[in-house]
Amino acid sequence: MLNEALKKLAQVQRIDTAIQELHRKFASLDPGGKAKQRFDEAKARKEQLDHRLSEIRGEIKDLELENSRLSQKSDSEKKRLYSGGVYNAKDAEAIDREVANLAQRVAKNDDRLLELYELVEPAKLEADDAHQDFEAASRLYEEYTSRYDAIKKDYENKMSQLLGARNKAAAQCDEDLLTRYEAIRKHHHGVGIAPLHGDECGQCRSKIAHHIVADVQAGVSLQTCENCARILYWEEASEEQD
Ligand SMILES: [Zn+2]
Repeated sequence: MLNEALKKLAQVQRIDTAIQELHRKFASLDPGGKAKQRFDEAKARKEQLDHRLSEIRGEIKDLELENSRLSQKSDSEKKRLYSGGVYNAKDAEAIDREVANLAQRVAKNDDRLLELYELVEPAKLEADDAHQDFEAASRLYEEYTSRYDAIKKDYENKMSQLLGARNKAAAQCDEDLLTRYEAIRKHHHGVGIAPLHGDECGQCRSKIAHHIVADVQAGVSLQTCENCARILYWEEASEEQD
């Protein structure tokens, strides 16, 4: 009777071990953190280089506009000077100074514009490169995520099958035995019951005293391994009853 009950408990243990192993394997997988990090970095770089390029282009546009405004102003000053409307020398000098001043500002802007024109092409190349890298990182991230989702689905299916089988197997067990088994496995890495292999504990390989071996074989009383605390059962006896 006891051997039969332990055999049923050992079946629960086999399923629990499978559940534990399945969970361990799944939990060891990266849900996509690395791919996400690569994606985030590529995105940040792309945005940074886009921003830089647009700053350069923005500054060019502003300076070109300003120069066009300054040139118009200079033209209208010159027009005023040569149109014959200015009669006194003081005003003429003032206009000359203003025209010279405008020309200086335009020249200064032109210097900066030359610098900026040089920067556009390399900045554009870098930004293009960042865009390509970002697209590659996006694809990788998407691929990884969909692969992971498939694995997760498979894991969930297997897990629900195992849990169903576990419930069935547990329902066959003696309740007190099951409670004891649960208590032991809780503190011993998920293993609550171990088969006797000859005169050794199948879990920790400790030698078991002869009278206990005989006791377990005969199914007289519940015995545990003195070393690892697992419930001992006689596997050969179980198999004979199959
Ligand atoms: Zn043991």
